[in-house]
Amino acid sequence: MAKLYIVPTPIGNLDDITLRAIAVLREADFILAEDTRTTSFLLRHLGIEKKLRSHHKFNEHATVQSVAETIAAGRCVALVSDAGTPGISDPGFLLVRTCIEQGIEVETLPGATAAIPALVQSGFPCDRFCFEGFLPQKKGRNKHLQALADEERTMIFYESPYRVVKCLEQLAELFGPERRVSVSRELTKKFEQTVRGTLAEVLDHFRAAEPKGEFVIVVAGRPKPGRRSECLEEADGPQENRKQ
Ligand code: SAM
Repeated sequence: MAKLYIVPTPIGNLDDITLRAIAVLREADFILAEDTRTTSFLLRHLGIEKKLRSHHKFNEHATVQSVAETIAAGRCVALVSDAGTPGISDPGFLLVRTCIEQGIEVETLPGATAAIPALVQSGFPCDRFCFEGFLPQKKGRNKHLQALADEERTMIFYESPYRVVKCLEQLAELFGPERRVSVSRELTKKFEQTVRGTLAEVLDHFRAAEPKGEFVIVVAGRPKPGRRSECLEEADGPQENRKQ
């Protein structure tokens, strides 16, 4: 059936692929992959042989229309990124929008993504939250963070290991060193770890232990005026969870 399937893939632990994702990857006419080598590795692991086409941020503007035409002509296409859910800080949005505009059916499978386990693992309220993805690297970064200082919802940021300390420093400066934060690294992998505490405490932790791996930073929202924060208040310094 002519359709675009959005297929999440594991963010570390290969067992996190869903049965439905495997079925779609097996049935699709071809797979659009952010990096064909990364996806070939996953397909080999799953015992699937399938044609792959490149679909990444450097070619998506040029190829999106021809992909939509191919689906409209009756093909079933699956889109994957290197890890997690396509469209979430990864290519996907442009193709989904184009398909919807052209009346092509889109079906998004639920599955792996880094933001949601980091949010739930933080212990901060997750009834309402905002996903900020990657901050601008240079221009506009400070202004962007300033605009979030009064945000009352829990905030989720993706950050490279090279900028984790800088990001925590900026957050402490703009949100105050007492604001609570939860930093999760290497989710679903062998060295998964979550460090929770005030921005000042978690900053000290990562100044002493060089950040390595992939990171999600979850920041508590500003407490409502006159209300106590709903976030955990640990008494003595940062609290660390490591996989056993
Ligand atoms: N599409 C992905 C998703 O659904 O989460 C995000 C892709 S984005 C290019 C990569 C960023 O996601 C990393 O820099 C990191 O911030 C976060 N990330 C991905 N895998 C992770 C993991 N296993 N642990 C912690 N963060 C991860």
